[in-house]
Amino acid sequence: MNTRKTITIAHGDGIGPEIMSATLNILKASEANLDFEEIEIGKKVYERGIKSGIDPSSWEPIRRNKILLKAPITTPQGGGVKSLNVTMRKTLGLFANIRPCRSYAPFVKTKHPYMDVVIVRENEEDTYGGIEHRQTYDVFQCLKLITMPGTEKINRYAFEYAKLNKREKVTCFTKDNIMKLTDGLFHDVFKQVAEEYPAIKSENMIVDIGAARLADTPEAFDVVVMPNLYGDIISDIAAQIAGSVGLAGSANIGESCAMFEAIHGSAPDIAGQNVANPSGLINASVMMLIHLGETTTAQHIQNAWLKTLEDGMHTADIYDAQSSEKLVSTTEFQDAVINRLGELPKQLSPVQYPEDPEPIEIKLTYSRGPKKPSKQIDRKLTGTDVFVYWEPGSADSLAELLIEGMQDLSKSMDLIMITNRGTKVWPEGMEETFCTDHWRCRFHSKSSALQSSDIIELLSNLSENGIDIIKTENLYEFDGERAYSLGQGE
Ligand code: NAD
Repeated sequence: MNTRKTITIAHGDGIGPEIMSATLNILKASEANLDFEEIEIGKKVYERGIKSGIDPSSWEPIRRNKILLKAPITTPQGGGVKSLNVTMRKTLGLFANIRPCRSYAPFVKTKHPYMDVVIVRENEEDTYGGIEHRQTYDVFQCLKLITMPGTEKINRYAFEYAKLNKREKVTCFTKDNIMKLTDGLFHDVFKQVAEEYPAIKSENMIVDIGAARLADTPEAFDVVVMPNLYGDIISDIAAQIAGSVGLAGSANIGESCAMFEAIHGSAPDIAGQNVANPSGLINASVMMLIHLGETTTAQHIQNAWLKTLEDGMHTADIYDAQSSEKLVSTTEFQDAVINRLGELPKQLSPVQYPEDPEPIEIKLTYSRGPKKPSKQIDRKLTGTDVFVYWEPGSADSLAELLIEGMQDLSKSMDLIMITNRGTKVWPEGMEETFCTDHWRCRFHSKSSALQSSDIIELLSNLSENGIDIIKTENLYEFDGERAYSLGQGE
């Protein structure tokens, strides 16, 4: 017999309370083995001056219950507050964001009647570290961080998900023709992991053409794995072209906790009107029940929901005067699903979930440091990129000042290049290249490895010579391989 499980719930902002109420009423009517513990997050908490949008005491029930069913929240723009969604995903280690986007034709209007795509979005890394700085008058920076363990985890998750759900193909989207180190790593790890799953087809596409093909021919895709930012954008496109952004649910999976939510936001434009489609959160709750092993209840709700769509009970976002039977409110949609619990759809395929689903467990092969016990990866410091603020002027005069500032260090290192916005402007720049007040000056050792103290001495000498240093990035070789990108035109 299944034991009851307590989950944490958050009603959210905008349409959040309406769609949460509908979802909870359906869960209760289906006699799900669940109890609910409520927390408050989002707008009201931000308004109390808590910049994270969550009271510190609310983490305790989330961590104790391990499962959070969350309605969308409104993220205030600007004002120095952080996105609570991103904070939750990162703080709880929810590394995988699973977003199934399928069409329900002919009952929900779509140009893509055969679409059934699952987007597996990396959920913690990339530009979502939110590490941003204004460095000069002209230039603002956002750091894109892609890690070895994070990349292995998400790619393994995508293949394990495909195996468990009998999916045939995993496609990887990256932009490694431009970002050769970060997206290059994602692509390389994808290829390595794919080799361990010979029964599943694998392919890589550059994200721009991949997104275009997905929007045009989604039926050619099955599971698609990608870094965080591409996944954020592309999963909204996928949900929208399937019929409505209001339909898709998502699971945020971590090693210990998991969070389930609709993929859409708090829709303030329709809040409080009882018109929102609660399907995204209902589908998220079905994913949650499967995660909890409550597959019979998940099946009941999903089949009743499919039958509701099939019977033409449609909220405004999917209502079509020709094909829908009735334009329904949020609460009428909820009642329609409840009334159909125990029924199966006739034309859409009913779902059947396994009684005891296997949990997906990820075992990393990556370990930092030595790959072979006898051999330490050789990490050699060979130079540094010094970023400086310099009013637009000639790169030649900046180079002169830098070379003069090196003093005795010019015996052990050379200034080899200056770039502006990544494009080489010295030596031999072109006058057409547009320059800002932000310059990257690359110093490289003449022969042997450098010490940190050499870099510190260089910075001190340059500073004494009037150079305004913003930051440095050290240049390393790992096992003799260059571990930094070349300048554009270098
Ligand atoms: P949104 O997804 O809230 O709305 C986009 C459009 O889709 C709107 O026209 C809206 O009415 C419609 N829509 C969304 N959900 C619907 C539903 N269930 N039924 C019918 N129509 C629906 O996106 P937005 O307007 O860009 O964002 C609004 C707020 O939500 C912002 O503060 C944003 O930061 C936040 N947001 C939160 C989450 C989350 O909590 N996970 C996700 C995305 C956006």
